[in-house]
Amino acid sequence: MGQKYVQQNIRRTIRLMNFICKNYLFSKKRYPRKTMDKFNELYQTLGAAWEYFGLMCQHKKGYRKLKDKEGRWACRICGKIKNSPAWEYLLPVHGAKVIGQYVGTPNRKSKTFPDKQKARLVDDAIYFHGARLNVRVHHSYPSSLLDKKINIAADRIVELQEKEVRVWIDSHLVDVEIAKGKADKGKKYGGFVWELPKKLLKKFPIICSYGPQGQFYGVEIFRPK
Ligand SMILES: [Zn+2]
Repeated sequence: MGQKYVQQNIRRTIRLMNFICKNYLFSKKRYPRKTMDKFNELYQTLGAAWEYFGLMCQHKKGYRKLKDKEGRWACRICGKIKNSPAWEYLLPVHGAKVIGQYVGTPNRKSKTFPDKQKARLVDDAIYFHGARLNVRVHHSYPSSLLDKKINIAADRIVELQEKEVRVWIDSHLVDVEIAKGKADKGKKYGGFVWELPKKLLKKFPIICSYGPQGQFYGVEIFRPK
């Protein structure tokens, strides 16, 4: 939906709300109870419409300063308070859906937060056509692991789950886990590729790709059937 159309609808909705307010809800004239109830309901429904169109507003005309104590700013078009949290998202059926903005790993040298909750910047998940995507961004915080106090470093973690395959990406690691490969529970071995015997490597369905100067490009894994 175009921004011009959104703006028109917001204006029209606000105008209608003001009209009802002035002429009925706060009018000096007395109306029968039933009429008042109807206009009350109408006002609420228009409020919902305002919110609906507001979700589509891209706040392109900037913000105006409100005359309130907190000195807040409101969108010139839809009236949304600047930096106020969004309670709902409205996503287009066609085209790319956008939720949130990129939040990078916080400075690893900055202070440690008292606990996990206070250290959290983003912790969100979406189930998208059957795949699950998680994004977590946090500052550094202390944690106890096996009765030992350790500091969890600031990080940005992206996790994608597609059926039996889970891909974990953080500041240092890209980890691909295939659940089917973990049939023998409890026994897990590992090592750098150069450490493994050729006999074993021949069983692994992986291909490493690299450039002419030996620079690492990536790894391909054939999905076990
Ligand atoms: Zn707006």
